[in-house]
Amino acid sequence: HSTPKTTIVIFGATGDLAKRKLFPSIFNLYQAGKLSEEFAVVGLARREWSNFTLREVVNESISSANDDLIEKFCKHFYYLPFDVTRNDSYINLDKLLKEVEDVYGIPGNRIFYMSTSPEFFGTIASNLKAHQLTETKGWTRLIIEKPFGRDAASAEQLNNEISQAFSEDEIYRIDHYLGKDMVQNIEVIRFANSIFEPLWNNHYISNVQITLSETLGVEDRGGYYDTSGAMRDMVQNHVLQLVSLLAMDPPIRLTPEEVRHEKIKVLRALKPVATDNASEYFVRGQYIPGIMNDQEVPGYRSEESVSPKSITETFVAGKLQIENHRWTGVPFYIRTGKRLESKTTKVIIEFKNMPLNLYFNGEKDTSNLLSINIQPVEGITLLLNGKKEGTSGEAVPVQLDYNNKNDDISSTPEAYERLIYNCLLGDATNFAHSDEVLLSWKYVDPILKAWQSDKVEIAEYESGTMGPKASDDLLAKDGNHWWPVN
Ligand code: NAD
Repeated sequence: HSTPKTTIVIFGATGDLAKRKLFPSIFNLYQAGKLSEEFAVVGLARREWSNFTLREVVNESISSANDDLIEKFCKHFYYLPFDVTRNDSYINLDKLLKEVEDVYGIPGNRIFYMSTSPEFFGTIASNLKAHQLTETKGWTRLIIEKPFGRDAASAEQLNNEISQAFSEDEIYRIDHYLGKDMVQNIEVIRFANSIFEPLWNNHYISNVQITLSETLGVEDRGGYYDTSGAMRDMVQNHVLQLVSLLAMDPPIRLTPEEVRHEKIKVLRALKPVATDNASEYFVRGQYIPGIMNDQEVPGYRSEESVSPKSITETFVAGKLQIENHRWTGVPFYIRTGKRLESKTTKVIIEFKNMPLNLYFNGEKDTSNLLSINIQPVEGITLLLNGKKEGTSGEAVPVQLDYNNKNDDISSTPEAYERLIYNCLLGDATNFAHSDEVLLSWKYVDPILKAWQSDKVEIAEYESGTMGPKASDDLLAKDGNHWWPVN
């Protein structure tokens, strides 16, 4: 599909996200012929840049050998020095938007992309409304970055603020995990294969394990991270999105309303964890020094801009329970953290064992495992048992591998590219609905409350490991263990 003629307005155009993700993604859409030639991008930020400066930066952010195309592309970019709190900024923006819409014959279709610090999201929305920038002959949409609040109350307040200017179906809350191909593939694997869906319940599945591990520490974002932590940064959004995709019932059709409706039902079925017994279901950890790639790396408390007494978690492991007909009795184990052994995003479905084990497998586990590999490798792996050659009565694990990556990695669209494209087409399926965001916060809030005090233990883990021992103990209590993810 080619997309409608649109102006994309980026608040925070001088920032890191714009340069690393947004400009290259918009270029890729252009190069792939998915953007109509009649589009404009208006970049806004405090700095006194000119159109020329912005175009230079956009040019640098793109890797392509096609210089003519890059040059043509960059001409669609306009810059306006902008302070989100000043009236005259919005008056100037109104003028500029009308001008570029005139140049390209854009019928008032506008995407407002909020890529500034979240404290400004509300201010921007109310000013857009006040200056009637959302009242055009075309459509207007809002793309909004994470973090979406820091608890249920602030998320609700943010919702109220942005909904002054945009209705729910105009709001596209980014969760970039939902833009990943293999994450979108979860639905296809589940709902397009008759061999999985009949088994996808508590009769046949023993447990589900979700790992989102990073090798990096907090890098130069210590100041931000120390006020956030792994629960807010990863679990409330990405992890719970994965849980709902894995656990949802088949939607009656693939519309945004139907898909999100089913996901919301999963979040509603999550068994709440009370503040008092959070430790029974959730483990928090923090990295201490360790060796990674033959180099000693510092502990979290020695990172730049992090308090030496910080009790912010850099690791979370948890056991989630979904109380409905399909899932009661099946633990969903989740873990995520920084400075872990490997950078991996992976889901492992462990199926229940056969009632009677007829074959000798040595000491090995015989469980059938389905792995959904999201990153770095994209694909699925199915672990079966087969006959050991030359023996009778012995079985060995047989691994069926499907690797999603073709040789030409550059042709696979990036998450942001897909999401911007979806927004241009008005498809909100892969964005978080306000109910999803609020239900997720309501689930994690009581646990975060327990962690506010240093009474709940924060388990140390050595950098370069897969987290604290308490994370293994969490599964051992149920007679389970983490399957290796590497
Ligand atoms: P950044 O600090 O690099 O950029 C912030 C931008 O906001 C700059 O362009 C700055 O000029 C502008 N700005 C600040 N104050 C302003 C004001 N008063 N008026 C107008 N503009 C102002 O931040 P970033 O890393 O680009 O992140 C932007 C948003 O995206 C944040 O909400 C962040 O949480 C989110 N996000 C970023 C990443 C990432 O990889 N960088 C990933 C996920 C989400």
